[in-house]
Amino acid sequence: MKTTLLTVAAALGLAVTGAQAQNYPNRPITMIVPFAAGGPTDVVARIVTDHMSRTLGQQIVVENVAGAGGTTGITRASQAQPDGYTIMMGHMGTHGAAPALYPNLKYDPTKDFAPIGLAAGTPILIVAKKDFPANNLQEAITYLKKNGDKVNMAHAGVGSVSHSTGVLFNSTIDIKPTFVAYRGTGPALNDLMAGTVDLMTDQIVNVAPQIQAGNIKAFAIATPERSPALQNVPTTKEAGLPDYQVSAWNAVFAPKGVPQEVVTKLNDALVKSLEDENTKKRLADLGGVLPTAEERTPAGLQKLVDSEVARWTPVLKAAGATGQ
Ligand code: ASP
Repeated sequence: MKTTLLTVAAALGLAVTGAQAQNYPNRPITMIVPFAAGGPTDVVARIVTDHMSRTLGQQIVVENVAGAGGTTGITRASQAQPDGYTIMMGHMGTHGAAPALYPNLKYDPTKDFAPIGLAAGTPILIVAKKDFPANNLQEAITYLKKNGDKVNMAHAGVGSVSHSTGVLFNSTIDIKPTFVAYRGTGPALNDLMAGTVDLMTDQIVNVAPQIQAGNIKAFAIATPERSPALQNVPTTKEAGLPDYQVSAWNAVFAPKGVPQEVVTKLNDALVKSLEDENTKKRLADLGGVLPTAEERTPAGLQKLVDSEVARWTPVLKAAGATGQ
């Protein structure tokens, strides 16, 4: 009798889950952005979800849950009900660098998520306040080597993209500036424009408009090629620092355990968004790099996360980065 009831209950449970997944989504979806509004992760999230909402027929509401280099928001999102109504915009920090810097991290980027797909590649730029006393990367390096300890470098918290790529930059040229943490590089960029901090390494989609407007200085882009959005900014190779090569990314994840139908629907909506001319233009204008066909798949994103965690752990250890 007991067994029969349990079997019936289990069958009913499965049926409900299946039916729910089939009707998905029948109410608004929350996308957790683990940084302050106005920064790159937030901007990429708002651009791609705009069109995703139309495909899914439901609003995707962005919720900014900032703190601890993005790990606060991603921890919360990873523990949400795996029903597809809470998803997240992760990035190279939360799903690549963070495990090296947070020994007690409550999630494993390689195991605790259902990857949906890559949203954008985001090259890294070395930028400074407008009146920073250098006009190119070589002058900046000379200045930093002399005055490094007096310089303030902004970032979005330990383990974030700006922090990890900043650690890498500092170890490449052997300087030790003072790190200043923000709840995202949106607010950090505001202070860079105001001149209250000096330097930052960050994602192109954040800094491109202010470089174009002449509100901050860009010393170099850390990719092999220049960006079509910033034709005048030299690559680190051209500017004489070929060893500093680094690029970041933003990607959509759901908590582990979401039904396969939900993964398929979310991925389909993301892919359609990335094929939309308006989405493409908005990302390209900011220097965002459109993901390849493989990177748009859950399997492609899983592969990227696995390789990023494997790559960043030794890099950050070698650079002497700690969670402090
Ligand atoms: N770009 C930021 C980082 O450094 C975060 C943000 O999107 O605000 O990780």
